[in-house]
Amino acid sequence: MRRTPLLVGQLFLVGLSLGQVAIGSSQNPTAPSIWRRHDLNRTRPPAITPPGPTVSAPAPSDAIVLFNGRDLSAFTRASGAPAAWKVENGYMEVAARTGSIRTKESFGDMQLHLEWASPNPPNGVGQDRGNSGVIIMGQYEVQVLDSYQRADTYADGQAASLYGQYPPLVNATRPPGEWQSYDILFRRPRFRPDGTVQEPARITVMHNGILVQNNEVLFGPTAPVPPYRYVAHADELPFTLQDHSHPVRFRNIWVRKIQERPEPAPGYIPSPVTLTDAQMMRVLGAYYRAPAATATPAQVAAAQQVPAFVITREGPQFWVTMGNAAPLKAFPTTESQIYVPDRGAFVNFTATAAGGQMEAALDGSTARATRR
Ligand code: MG
Repeated sequence: MRRTPLLVGQLFLVGLSLGQVAIGSSQNPTAPSIWRRHDLNRTRPPAITPPGPTVSAPAPSDAIVLFNGRDLSAFTRASGAPAAWKVENGYMEVAARTGSIRTKESFGDMQLHLEWASPNPPNGVGQDRGNSGVIIMGQYEVQVLDSYQRADTYADGQAASLYGQYPPLVNATRPPGEWQSYDILFRRPRFRPDGTVQEPARITVMHNGILVQNNEVLFGPTAPVPPYRYVAHADELPFTLQDHSHPVRFRNIWVRKIQERPEPAPGYIPSPVTLTDAQMMRVLGAYYRAPAATATPAQVAAAQQVPAFVITREGPQFWVTMGNAAPLKAFPTTESQIYVPDRGAFVNFTATAAGGQMEAALDGSTARATRR
């Protein structure tokens, strides 16, 4: 428990969260752990020593640099007023009680790099010691705290925790005053048009180059209190750096926006057509290629035993087996053509000149196969 004086606003939040402990994660069906929220008995991650500096990481060419050590022009207060934190010597420092600051630009899926240092000399205990936070989309907090050689707060609230949900896997915190890095990979939640969750948010965090959050599934916003219920929100929102009244420093903040992989242009994937039973039956069967004139006896035997194509159906669905491969789903695009999406291939059917017999060939190929 805290023993240090708290601001009125903090008391209010703490009062709420303590009051809500009874409905903690053990009763939340989506919680990944049966530990209660902020359980002081929760096993603390082992401390490790990060191998070397991971700070002053240069921004990649496609990154948006939000803070290069000079000014807070990329940030604003919640009110929209200019950010009032101190900027000096290439870093920004929380100016207590001037308010949290948030980015002017909005972000969804992203790779975020930032560096922070807790106050030196350190001051306070538990949550009241070098507390700040990176609050993604204004609601998913990666905690910033002086957790160096300390075990006086709940594990799910120490540095690099996903606040109130996941302690870090290990404690990779550096001493107060030393620069340390967060590399945060964030995948935003996806919501259906009716506002329900299609896909929850996921976060990976590297703390000083060490994996401490491994693609964890958030079970809702981390604040202010359970039950962590997702409320549908925009695809992109600002992230916040928290003013918790402690002079925590930040520098070298850059973001790469992560885009969805592009889908092909409309019409690139052909559209299925509906065929009659008679039209479908017309192309079913096993199709064999004639061996080449130069084929060896073994190749001749193989060509006679293994069909180039076997076309079958299940209701309106075609299946195409090519050689010895597994059957693939296919759909008709015309009466005489089916498309195999997994291969990006068309199979074209033509009646032979003699009539009656069908031939099949891959689009653009002259290697025709005849149905037996
Ligand atoms: Mg915090």
